[in-house]
Amino acid sequence: MDIKQIYLDADAMLEGHFKLSSGNHSQFYLQSAKVLEDPKTAKKLADALAEQIKADGIEIDTVCSPAIGGLIAGFALAQALDARYIFTERVDGAMTLRRGFDVKHGEKILICEDIITTGGSAMEASAAVESLGAEVVAFAALANRGFCRRENSDIVAKPNCKLPDNLPFFALADFDFEMYAPEECPLCKAGSEAIKPGSREN
Ligand code: ZN
Repeated sequence: MDIKQIYLDADAMLEGHFKLSSGNHSQFYLQSAKVLEDPKTAKKLADALAEQIKADGIEIDTVCSPAIGGLIAGFALAQALDARYIFTERVDGAMTLRRGFDVKHGEKILICEDIITTGGSAMEASAAVESLGAEVVAFAALANRGFCRRENSDIVAKPNCKLPDNLPFFALADFDFEMYAPEECPLCKAGSEAIKPGSREN
């Protein structure tokens, strides 16, 4: 499966000059929601991700996603794994389990995002369920931005990857295109201005 082509076909990989939520600049921006607006594509991607996870033999009771980015990918993956599905959301900035969701002591949880960049939100969701007694056993995303090491890839983790190196991280592809600190951005140096995609002004 050519994940990059699926993103391109869905106009979900934008090319230009973008300011990412991390503050870094990039020539590319991924808008996974555009890929997942077709439920058949969401199912196809989730089924492929579930195959990898099942092949690993890891036991998973529940999939948990950090809202909003991970919601659709996580739900589709839970369906493919025949697992329970819950999500965390920010309350006053803190990732929290709400809406009557609960976890059992020792419940085995996989944290699922749409894209893992450094894994910051995934780790916040992980901390939220572990603080209630659950056990996070794996991480997953449709794609890896190339900062973390995923299963079945040669890419090595960079120092800013926040995922623990003792737990597996499953993803379908590496989208490891360059990101730049604003002061080192060649696109800025060429005179263009970075825009924030998907924000209110766009
Ligand atoms: Zn720039």
